[in-house]
Amino acid sequence: MIRASERRPPRLSDTHAWGQARAQFLRANPQCLGCAAIGKHVVATTVDHVVPHGGDEGRFWDRMNWQPSCQWHHDAIKQRLELAYRAGKLSVEALSLSSAEAIALTKRHMRVQIGLDGWPIEDNETTGGPENVAGRR
Ligand SMILES: [Zn+2]
Repeated sequence: MIRASERRPPRLSDTHAWGQARAQFLRANPQCLGCAAIGKHVVATTVDHVVPHGGDEGRFWDRMNWQPSCQWHHDAIKQRLELAYRAGKLSVEALSLSSAEAIALTKRHMRVQIGLDGWPIEDNETTGGPENVAGRR
């Protein structure tokens, strides 16, 4: 599974092949999975590896291991999921942005809506979770 030691893997994500595969995947899967899971339609700008590939080419290129993600889900939510996963607190299934754990995290951290560009915007009645949005712009 995941090695504890951090080797510097070759940057697979810099390859031309990845650029093409990524663009094709996002055309076929244009919406962020994590946002869709809570009923929001947000354009996916990132192909996230469900299980971190850690430089493993097989895992990197396995489309079953890809999920469309907005920048916010990738940066804010997935980071937390992977941290908990590495700490042994989450099962591998929870790494999907549509998992119950991911949805709970999304609702907890989503205080603002995510814009079409993948970045949060403040907007109307966002009440994604127990916390209501305090202010409006
Ligand atoms: Zn999202």
